[in-house]
Amino acid sequence: MEFVPPALEELLPDLSRDEQLRLQKQSHERERIWKRTNKNKSPPLPPTFSERCMHICRQRDSFMVPHVHYALRHYNARHPGGEFDAVKPLMYCSVPFRGHPWFHVNFWARSRRTNKISRFFAEVHYRPPPLSSFDGSAIPVPIPTVELCTILEEPLSQYRSSYAFCTSSLDILHPKGSRKFVCGNDKHRIEQRLPRGSITTLFHGMPFTGS
Ligand SMILES: [Zn+2]
Repeated sequence: MEFVPPALEELLPDLSRDEQLRLQKQSHERERIWKRTNKNKSPPLPPTFSERCMHICRQRDSFMVPHVHYALRHYNARHPGGEFDAVKPLMYCSVPFRGHPWFHVNFWARSRRTNKISRFFAEVHYRPPPLSSFDGSAIPVPIPTVELCTILEEPLSQYRSSYAFCTSSLDILHPKGSRKFVCGNDKHRIEQRLPRGSITTLFHGMPFTGS
């Protein structure tokens, strides 16, 4: 089922000033690029284009939701009394490593205690299901392992987006510290020789491109 994210307008009042400024900057950048490539036209974008973007964003969100849920379950189990609920997936990047797909993910989640929204980073990878689970009754599900799920405390400007296999254009912020995550951390980055990660062309664009 397609995940329907909350509208940006609904979320804005609950976002920190830091996140709001970040969104504003991204929006100005998109507008600047649009103007440069559409010199004879004026914004807003044609409705058909906007609808298509929104559909693509929803598809990407739906794809990311399982990673977010696995990651938050891991976080909440380790922080009793400080649990969060998922609000909106932001962006992901994946790479094959040690024979499995690995994902770096950013998402927003809301604190059950303070109601505030925070940005999280998570590293999740998947092992193939055991052969014994292929009994013909249902399609076996890969087994997730969450290596890390952590809040990115503000200011967000202290974190890097171009890191390991993630490119800066995806704007996935990474926690500081060489051993915070496994795949592509500073200590093992050279020996791991990771390729740049992949995100299908369909899913390009920022999390609120369609808004
Ligand atoms: Zn990354």
